[in-house]
Amino acid sequence: MHIDHVGRIPYLLVAGFRGPIYCSEASALLPPLVPEDALKVGVNRNASLIKRFLGQIWRQVVALPYKKWRSVTQGVSVKLHPAGHILGSAYVEFKVESSSMENALAKRNHRVVFFGDLGASHTPLLPAPRPPWRADLLVLESTYGDRLHENRTQRQMRLGHAIEHALVNRGTILVPAFSIGRTQELLYDLESLIHRMGGRRLTGSMCWSDLEVIVDSPLAAKMTDCYLRLRHLWDNEARRRVNSGRYPLNFEQLYTVESHDEHRQTVAYLASSGRHQRW
Ligand SMILES: [Zn+2]
Repeated sequence: MHIDHVGRIPYLLVAGFRGPIYCSEASALLPPLVPEDALKVGVNRNASLIKRFLGQIWRQVVALPYKKWRSVTQGVSVKLHPAGHILGSAYVEFKVESSSMENALAKRNHRVVFFGDLGASHTPLLPAPRPPWRADLLVLESTYGDRLHENRTQRQMRLGHAIEHALVNRGTILVPAFSIGRTQELLYDLESLIHRMGGRRLTGSMCWSDLEVIVDSPLAAKMTDCYLRLRHLWDNEARRRVNSGRYPLNFEQLYTVESHDEHRQTVAYLASSGRHQRW
């Protein structure tokens, strides 16, 4: 979950909301880092208060499996569908029993569908979202509604060129990938490139398979662990890679920084090793 998915929850709790908070099973398994941030940013920085708030949130959370109707109140059921945006993301379909005689005779209920962030059809790792069967009312989030997604092959080629270009110039590439899910997509694309290019020379005596990738973010490391644990939610292509002996998110060339001390050691290593001078 991103902060814009759950940022409202603290305000609702402060306002006295004590009803169920429905979310997908995968979202319920993710660490409560994002709700914690939402509380710190929007409400309070007092550690014990935040702990109590988080406890309250998790007491109210009800995890739902994808694609199963769940009655939420009389005459209203809800069903979550994979949205392909990040792990656990969902779009929400409501079935409302109709009170009109005409609809009741036709045994037709009212369908309302809410879309939040939606994944593109060729997003790495997650299956593309399937459109709902029908909707009588459709509510869409439209922040990026005026933009087209870049073709995935082109994006991967641009990444490959950027890496080659930087290394020929004896540089290091820093990618500020903070958002949950994006780091994992980037790792997935890097593993694809390393796998495809393998022994091809990058620069000097260095091949693609010698490329060092460092993820310097404890949050990203925790999310990668979640992605690895919830492998059953990956798309067919990603699972095929795993079955063929590849490690799309924990490949050989990947080093993950887990703490601030390790971060400092890594910076010192990069500064002192002068690896690039060997190339
Ligand atoms: Zn999002």
